[in-house]
Formats: sequence, structure tokens, C-alpha cells
Amino acid sequence: MVSKINSIAVLGAGTMGAGIAALAADKDYKVLLLDINEEAAQKGKDSMIAERAPMLSDLSKINNVNIGSFDKDFESIKDYDWVCEVVVENLNIKREIFEKIEKYRKDGSIVSSNTSGIPLRDITENMPNRLLNDVCITHFFNPVKVMKLCELIPGEKTSKEVMNNLSEFLTDVMGKGVVYGKDTVNFIGNRIGCYLILKGLHEGSNARGLGLSQEVIDGIMSRPLGLPPTGLYGLVDLIGLDVMHSVGKNLAVNLPEGDMGKNYVNLPVEEQNMFDKGQLGRKTGGGFYRMQKLDNGDKKKEVFDLDTSLWRDAVKSSAEGDLSMILEDSTRGNYAWEVMGSTLLYAANLIPEIADDIVNIDRAMRWGFAWSKGPFEMMDELGPMNIINKCKENNITIPAMLETLLNSNSDKFYTSNNEYLTIEGEYNNIPK
Ligand code: NAD
Repeated sequence: MVSKINSIAVLGAGTMGAGIAALAADKDYKVLLLDINEEAAQKGKDSMIAERAPMLSDLSKINNVNIGSFDKDFESIKDYDWVCEVVVENLNIKREIFEKIEKYRKDGSIVSSNTSGIPLRDITENMPNRLLNDVCITHFFNPVKVMKLCELIPGEKTSKEVMNNLSEFLTDVMGKGVVYGKDTVNFIGNRIGCYLILKGLHEGSNARGLGLSQEVIDGIMSRPLGLPPTGLYGLVDLIGLDVMHSVGKNLAVNLPEGDMGKNYVNLPVEEQNMFDKGQLGRKTGGGFYRMQKLDNGDKKKEVFDLDTSLWRDAVKSSAEGDLSMILEDSTRGNYAWEVMGSTLLYAANLIPEIADDIVNIDRAMRWGFAWSKGPFEMMDELGPMNIINKCKENNITIPAMLETLLNSNSDKFYTSNNEYLTIEGEYNNIPK
């Protein structure tokens, strides 16, 4: 295996490929950027120095990037230490690219995929051991320059050296926070983050029936719970309802039997209607919200009322309160419990399935989804016994990690000595 990464070939020059390539170029690494044709690769390269939001801190670093096309220049990947695949989220297309990578790459080079949720074992099924030993997933978050998280996921045969080498490069050179996941659907961040979103949309129908408007729901699902200011519907507008629709389809196929998320893989009726008519979010000029230009040049924000299917003026809403709202006996408290509370319980049930410990899960949600605290840190703030009591009141089986906490006679997941509770019920030092 290469002892040190000195060069990167990025295959796919779209949003993520350009972002990853720019980050490496910015750190003075030699980068090859390929796409279906040279124009697509050039477009990716140009986006790195776009006037409004350049990805490079020093525009001269653009000279570190060479471009080309898959048809003409694939062979050039033989000169690169790390080959990072970042093409569209389509299993067959990724498999085709992987077959070509294996044909042309040099011995010992590292190969990774930036897939958001396709299992690595599906991408590499029936591929040779030479590849299986050198391959993993490097899941960056959007925008690459800003989001700290990179999930690192090995396959069954990936060598320890590959993982260590990449982990060191991602941390020390690219400045990322590495989180170790497993080859499970949607890995860590998207597994928990998409549960929150889909559950939030489903509970939204009930909550609206009880008098909470979409704006109020967004007010709850933001600052008080330590979530980004977009709230729920605003976040889906940003991501795109089409992306959430295909996330749901992927979850439907790949979630294990009995998973809590299985009930929420389809969009609720109102959101499905929006999807059917192409009202997908910011990319289509509006989703749950839209900005309207007035004759006097001002802008006005409108909300698509899911209960009347009509646009109306959006009402500014910022919910007072904090995380303790989850335990509050009120309509908004019940919504917060059904959505965020349920997400905390979901996370507490996913060790060791998606990660070995609570630290990797908390970091993934802070670094990739910009939550101010991860699920276990939130439970510590709320008091894990309060969550356990609430589970008992609602006849909910106590999730595995909360059960571990109970059995170890502890009352917090983290101690003031920088330790965390392991799955064995002991406290270990939090890794760097
Ligand atoms: P994108 O659409 O911006 O770019 C995809 C690239 O794939 C394009 O440059 C396109 O030319 C190329 N492509 C299209 N058809 C192809 C084909 N038949 N063969 C080879 N290449 C083809 O997409 P993106 O957002 O950059 O996503 C790329 C990967 O990163 C996907 O696997 C996606 O799931 C993942 N990802 C995306 C995000 C995000 O927020 N956008 C975040 C994390 C991971």
C-alpha cells in the first residue's frame, strides 16, 4: 500500500466531487478531476473559483487541478495514490466506474466511494480481493469546505493500513473530523438525520390537526432543540423532496426487519402530492416555502399550507424554550417528544449496529448535521432517567444503550473526566 497519500484522483466533478478536489488542491496536493466529458470536468473546476463562493482559499491553487474525461483519461489514475469515486448515486453506474478503477489503478492505491447510503458490499460485490483490501467509503458532507464530518467505513476485507492512512490524511491534511461507521444503510449521520426528518414529516400531519402551524413546527425543530435554523420543512426545501423520496426508497429496501424507521420510509400523503407535481424545494423555486418578489422590489416569504394546498403569507415564528420541551406536557412538547425524543431512542438502539460507541454517533450528528449536541449528549442534558421514565409511562421498550446505562448504575453517558459509557457499561477515555 502507498505509505503516504501524495495525490488524489476524483471521479465525478459535480457538487461533491468539485468540493473534495478543491479541498485537496487547496492543501497543495496534486489532483486529477474526471467526469463524463471534459466540459463537465471543466465546470467542476470552474466552480472552485466561482466569484460568489470560491472553494479555494488561494485561487492560484487551481493549478494543482488537472481535468479530463472518463473516456479519454481514465488510464491516468495510475499515477494517483487515492482514487475517490463521486459520481451520481446509482449502484450500476458506481459499479461500472469501480470496474474501471480496478483495471487502471496502480498497486497499493487506496479507493473510496462518496456514496450517501449505498452499501459498499453492493458496490464491490464479486470484485477481486486486490480491490476489496484497498477499498472503503469516505462520506463527506455538503458543502465539503464547511462541514467537518467525513464518515469512514471499511468493507469486510479492507486492510487496517488503508483505514489508518486515510484517517490520518483526512484529519491532519484535510482538517476533517473522522467518524467510524459500519457498512449499513445510510451509515451514521443520514441514518439518524433522515429518521428525524421523515418522522418529523409524519408527525407533522397530527400536529397540524392539533393546531401547530408549519412555521411553529419549524420554530420547535430548530433553536430550542439545538437544531439548525432551517427547522424541519425549511431543511427539506434545502435538501429537496426528491432526495428525501429516494432516501426513503433506499431505506425501504435496506433497513433491517423491525427497525423503527420502517414505518416512515414513504412520504406522508400531502408531501407525496407535492413530490408528484414537482414541487421539490429551493431547486424548483419553492417547496414548503417560497420567496415572492413584490412590485416595489421587496421580497415576501410564503408557505405552502399542507392542509389547504394553497400558498399563504408565512408567519414569523420562533419557539421559546430549550431541549426540556421534549419532556413538557403540551401540544408542542408532545410533538418534540414524538420526533426528537423518538430520534434519541432510535440512536440509543443503533449501537453496535451502525457504530461501536456513542462518541462516533454524537460526533456524526454535530459535525455532519450541525446539531449543537449529539443524541447521547442531549440525553445527558435531559437526564437519562427522565427519558427512561417517559419510556415506561408510554410502554416503550427501553433502548439498548439506556438499558446499559441502567445496568451499570450510572446516570450519565459522559463524565466530567472526559470519559464515555461503552457498550460494555464501562467508562473509557474519549478518543481525540
Ligand atoms: P452531482 O449530480 O452534483 O454530480 C454527479 C456527477 O456524476 C456529475 O458530475 C455527473 O456528470 C456525473 N455523472 C452523471 N451520470 C454519470 C454516468 N452515467 N457515469 C459517470 N458519471 C456520471 O452529485 P453530487 O451531489 O456531487 O453527488 C455525488 C455523490 O456524492 C453521490 O453518490 C451522492 O449521493 C453523494 N453525496 C452527495 C451529497 C450532497 O449533499 N450533494 C452529500 C454527501 C454525499
